[in-house]
Amino acid sequence: MQSQSLIRAVVDAAALRHNLRQARRVAPDSRVMAVIKANAYGHGLLPTAMALAEADGFAVARFGEGLALRAAGLTNRILLLEGVFSAEQLAAAAQARFELMVHSFEQLELLDALAGDAQVTAWIKVDSGMNRLGFRLDEFGAAYERLRRNVHVHAEPTLVTHLASADDRRDPQTRRQLDAFAAATSGLAGARSIANSAGVLAWPTARADWVRPGLMLYGISPFPSGTGAELGLRPAMTLRTEVIAVKDVKVGETVGYGGSWTAMRDTRMAVVAAGYGDGYPRGSSSGTPVQIDGRRAPLIGRVSMDMITVDVTDLPVVAVGDPVVLWGSEIPVEEVAAHAGAIAWDLLCGVSQRVPLEAG
Ligand SMILES: *Cc1c(COP(=O)(O)O)cnc(C)c1O
Repeated sequence: MQSQSLIRAVVDAAALRHNLRQARRVAPDSRVMAVIKANAYGHGLLPTAMALAEADGFAVARFGEGLALRAAGLTNRILLLEGVFSAEQLAAAAQARFELMVHSFEQLELLDALAGDAQVTAWIKVDSGMNRLGFRLDEFGAAYERLRRNVHVHAEPTLVTHLASADDRRDPQTRRQLDAFAAATSGLAGARSIANSAGVLAWPTARADWVRPGLMLYGISPFPSGTGAELGLRPAMTLRTEVIAVKDVKVGETVGYGGSWTAMRDTRMAVVAAGYGDGYPRGSSSGTPVQIDGRRAPLIGRVSMDMITVDVTDLPVVAVGDPVVLWGSEIPVEEVAAHAGAIAWDLLCGVSQRVPLEAG
């Protein structure tokens, strides 16, 4: 069904699959746990999972996301990246065959108290220096032993850590984390999983048995500069809309709230149906590229709740109804983010609920 909304986020399943293949090409000896938390970084949980059905498993942050995947009939492995937080959740997780990250003694206690003969697959997290989730290095050995002795946990837990600074190839923290993880897990049975997207792309020794890419699957560069395209990735989301008005302003006139942009010449401008109410970044500066009729033109003035204004003086005739791309393959979301002082995944996750997601 055609949506009534002019603005829509079009998600390209072929691009998602291409990016998964790229992850496999870079890490050919690793299995891929595709990270689809946060509504698949704004791309839609279920359609993304369907597109990436070839992944070896899916990782989500919230229990409800896992349930939604099962309710849709997905039989793939599903890892809850933060594990469970109550006895009820644990019982339901076992029932739904979710795999659990175990990162705290509270969670070990829940597992010890699990009734009946329920069995779960566990992943155990070492805090190798990120200082967020995970057992500290000096308590990890004891936690691992306790998990292994638990009769509800089958086979060996997968040994996990998360990198804090993998997006900076020169930051010595990653080397320290890799060494700390190797030392903490030395001699222990179980597969290893370390790398997020930046780890996959920049740190060959972090690839291990399982990689956990998120960003790169959506075609986004995990590094502070450059684009996914430069890494051989294809942006999966194109944010499209239309021109809703065209008008002329005279030299010296201002445009938009606060009169923050002043015409330095007689200017033809297009009003475009997209604003911060849709998740278009409110902090975008004049000059942020917008694509109209396949050509780039600069944003002018402030972003409103439902509209932006674009200088189209240098474009051939622009008319109401003409197609606009706010980001996608021609306008990298990384570039838009840079103009807004933001990061690309903030923009993707920030697309509002009112913007329909479409397959394309
Ligand atoms: C979000 C997350 C990932 C994926 O990170 P990207 O930088 O998006 O590739 C991997 N592992 C864990 C534990 C995460 O929370």
